[in-house]
Amino acid sequence: MATDSQKYLSTRGGDHGLSFETVVLKGLAADGGLFLPHEVPIANEWQSWKDLSYADLALKILSLYISTDEIPTDALKAIIDRSYSTFRAEDITPVVHHQDNLYLLELFHGPSYSFKDCALQFLGNLFEYFLVRRNQGKQGKERHHLTVVGATSGDTGSAAIHGLRGKKDVTVTILHPKGRISPIQEVQMTTCTEKNVHNLAVTGTFDDCQDIVKALFGDPDTNETLKLGAVNSINFARILAQIVFYFYSYFKVAKQSPSFQVGDKVRFVTPTGNFGNILAGFFATKMGLPADKLVVATNENDILHRFWTTGRYEKNPVQDGGKSDACKETLSPAMDILVSSNFERLLWFLAKEHATANGQDSQSSKKQASQDIVTWYQALKSTGGFGPIHQSMLENGRLTFESDRVSDPETLATIKSYYQQSKYILDPHSAVGVTAAKRSIARAGEQTHHISLCTAHPAKFSDAVTSALEGEAGFNFEEQVLPEELKALLQKQTRVTTVENSWEAVREILKSQAEEDAKAEGA
Ligand SMILES: *Cc1c(COP(=O)(O)O)cnc(C)c1O
Repeated sequence: MATDSQKYLSTRGGDHGLSFETVVLKGLAADGGLFLPHEVPIANEWQSWKDLSYADLALKILSLYISTDEIPTDALKAIIDRSYSTFRAEDITPVVHHQDNLYLLELFHGPSYSFKDCALQFLGNLFEYFLVRRNQGKQGKERHHLTVVGATSGDTGSAAIHGLRGKKDVTVTILHPKGRISPIQEVQMTTCTEKNVHNLAVTGTFDDCQDIVKALFGDPDTNETLKLGAVNSINFARILAQIVFYFYSYFKVAKQSPSFQVGDKVRFVTPTGNFGNILAGFFATKMGLPADKLVVATNENDILHRFWTTGRYEKNPVQDGGKSDACKETLSPAMDILVSSNFERLLWFLAKEHATANGQDSQSSKKQASQDIVTWYQALKSTGGFGPIHQSMLENGRLTFESDRVSDPETLATIKSYYQQSKYILDPHSAVGVTAAKRSIARAGEQTHHISLCTAHPAKFSDAVTSALEGEAGFNFEEQVLPEELKALLQKQTRVTTVENSWEAVREILKSQAEEDAKAEGA
C-alpha cells in the first residue's frame, strides 16, 4: 500500500492520489500545476544512513517516495545502481575541503559534466523501466513509444541525451540555438549518434527553441500522436534524485571535519536558476536533515533574490519599468531565467503552512494552498508578477532560506581569486555559489560549516574561465581544464539537422522520425 509520501497531487488542486509512474511520465499536471507528494516523508532514522554508499543512500531516500507496489525494491536498486555506475568519481559526488569551514560539493562527475546528470541518468533509466513494462508482449503500433522533446541552452540537452541514448521505446530530440552554445556543449550532444537521439540546430535563440517546444506540447494533435515526454526540471523524479546529494555531502563533511558532528547544522549554498536543485535541499531539510539555512545564489537574473528581499515575485524589477521581457545573458547561462519553474512548489508549501498555522486542518490547508497558487499564477500570467505575499508566510520561508545575487564581474573575480589561492578552477555557476557562500560566512560566522554546490565542470564554459584566468602566469585551458575525454569529442563524427525557426517545421521532422523509428522497431 502506497503511503501519503508515495501518492502525488498537483499544486493547483486538479489532481491527487496519482502514482509515481503517472507523475514521471506526465511531467506536468493537466491543470498546469506541478506534482508533489501528498506529504514529505519524515526520515526519523536518517542518522543511521551516515556510512551508506551513494547508491545505498539513494535507495533509502527514494524508497520513501516510491511504493514497492510500483517498483519492487530489487528493481529500484538495479535502476539506481545502473544510474550511478556511469559516474567517473567513485564516490559519485565528492566533497572537497576548501578552507576553514567551507566545503565544495562537486556534482559534475557524470557523463555530461554537469549536476544534471545526477537526476537525468536516473530519469532515463526510470523511463526505460516503465516503458519496457508497459510494452511487454506488445508489438508494433501497440507499443507505448515516448518522444522526449526539449530545448537547451547547453547543459540540460547533453544530460538528457546521455540519460536516454540507446534506451528502448524512447527517442530524444533536443533543440539548441544554432551557433549559440559552447563548442564543447555542442559536440557533447551531436557526437551521440545513436538511432534514438536527434539534435536539431534551430536558426534562432534559446527562447525561440523553448517557444517551439511549448507549441509542440500545446498542440493536441502532436501530443497525441507522438506521446510527448518532458525532461525539464519540472519532472518530480529529478527533484527526488537530487535530494540524495544533500544528505550524502552532509555525512561527508561530518567525516572530514573534526568540529562537525552528525546532528549539527550546516549551510548549503546552491547556484540557482529554475529552483530545482535547491528545492531538493528543501525536501532534505523537511525530511530531517539539519540545515541552518539554504542560500539561494542567483546571477543577475535575480527574480528569486528579489522575492526573498521583498516578498514580491515579478518578472521585471520596477526600475526597468516592467518593460524588458527578456532575461539577461550572463556568464552563467544555465541560470539565465526570467521565472523559476520549480518555485511554484515552494510557494505551495509556504501557503499550506500558513493555512495550517492559522488553524486549518491538513486537508483544507492543501486546498487553500492550491487556491493561492492559482490566484498568484493567474496574476503572474496577466500582469507579470504578484505579491508581496503575506508577511508571516515570507518570514516562515526566511527561517529556511537566504538569498544573494552575484554579478558577472564578481563571478570572474571569484574564479580568479580561487585559482590564485589554491589552483582550483571553478566554473562560472559554481563561482556564483562560492561568492554567495563567502558572504554567507560573513553573516553567519566562521564557525558555521558551509557546503557550496559546484554544478558544472569548468571545461564546459571556456569563455568565462579563460577570460577570468588568461592573465595568470602559466594558465593553459587545454592542459589544465579540458579533460581528454572532451578533447576527443572534438575529433568525432557528429550528426545534427539544421531547422528553420518554426514549430511546424520541427513537428514535421518529429513525425517523420517517429515513422522511421516505428519501422525500425517493427523490423
Ligand atoms: C541547470 C543548472 C543550474 C541551475 O539549476 P536549477 O535546478 O535550475 O536551479 C546551475 N548550474 C548549472 C551548471 C546548471 O546546469
